Amino acid sequence: MKIGVLTSGGDAPGMNACVRAVVRSAIHYGFEAYGVYDGYKGLVENKIRKLNHNDVGQILNRGGTILGSSRLEAFKQKEVRQIAIDNLKSKDIDALVVIGGDGTYRGGMALDEMGIKVIAIPGTIDNDIASTEYTIGFFTALDTAIDAIDKLRDTSFSHQRCTVVEVMGRDCGDLSIYSGIATGAEIVITKETGFNREDVINQAKRAQSMGKRHLIVVVAEHITNVFDLAKDIQKHAGYESRATVLGYIQRGGNPSAFDRILASKMGVHAVELLKGGISGMAVFTKSLEIGHCPINEALEIKDEITDLYQYLKKLN
Ligand code: ADP
Repeated sequence: MKIGVLTSGGDAPGMNACVRAVVRSAIHYGFEAYGVYDGYKGLVENKIRKLNHNDVGQILNRGGTILGSSRLEAFKQKEVRQIAIDNLKSKDIDALVVIGGDGTYRGGMALDEMGIKVIAIPGTIDNDIASTEYTIGFFTALDTAIDAIDKLRDTSFSHQRCTVVEVMGRDCGDLSIYSGIATGAEIVITKETGFNREDVINQAKRAQSMGKRHLIVVVAEHITNVFDLAKDIQKHAGYESRATVLGYIQRGGNPSAFDRILASKMGVHAVELLKGGISGMAVFTKSLEIGHCPINEALEIKDEITDLYQYLKKLN
C-alpha cells in the first residue's frame, strides 16, 4: 500500500508530529509514505513527494506544518477532485490521511466517496470537531492563550484595570472557556454563554463594589468588538479598561507534550486502520472524564501498563 498524507485548513501545533507518525508507522508496516504539499491545492497541482524515515526527522517538536497548508474553494467541485484522484492514481497511491478541521473532513469524505481510502485526523486549535474530545493543537494554543493572559494580568493588577482579551476559536468557545477557567477570568463570553452588554457591565460593577482590584474579561472571537466593550466597561463600571486581541500568536509555537503524544497516537492509529482495510473514518479521542471511587478502592487498584509502549516501536 502507498499512503499519502496532507495537512489542510488552519495550521495547528502538533500537525508535524502527526505527519511524522503517519510516515514512520507506514514504513514500520512495510508501506510507502507520500507527502502532499499545501493541502488539497497541492493535491490538485500534483505536489506529491515520497517521504522516507529521515525526511520526517527533527519535526516532532516544531509548530506549523512542514507540508504546508492552503484553502481551495474549488475542491468542492467533483471535476477538480477528479484531477486530485488522477494525480494520486498516477503514483499508485491508494490511501490518504488528511489532517485538519471540519472543512478538511468534508474534502476527505468526498475523496473517499470517489474511491480513495481516506482517514481524517482532527488538527485544529479550535477544538470544534464534535466527534473528538480534543483536537491536535488545542492544548498548545490554550497554553499560549494562558501565558498571554497571565502577562496581561500582571499589568491589569498593577494599574487596577479591566483587561478585555479576545481569544481565537472560530465559532467554538472552548479556547475561551478553558483559558477563562485556567486564568481565573471574572467574565467569559462565548457563543455558548451568550452576550448581553448590560449584563457584562453589571457584572463589572459588581466586581468593583466587591472591591476587586482588577478584572479579566475573556471574549471569544466573532462575538463583539472588544475595544468597544472595553470603552463601555470603562464608561459605566468605573474600571480603566484596555482590550487586547491575541490573534494568530495562538496558532504558532512548539506543540505541548499532550499534543505531541495525541498526534503521534492518532497518526499510528490512522495507518493501522488502513492496514486493516478500514477507511472513511475520523479518528477521535475520548477519556479525560472526572469520576470518583472509594478511597480504599483507589489504593487497591493496580496501575495498568500504559498503552504508549505499543506506539513507541512504530515511531522510531
Ligand atoms: P478546516 O479544515 O480547518 O475546517 P477549511 O474549512 O478552510 O479548514 O477547509 C479546508 C479545505 O477543505 C477547503 O479549503 C477546501 O479545499 C476543502 N473543503 C471544505 N469543504 C469541502 C467540501 N464540502 N467538499 C470538498 N472539499 C471541501
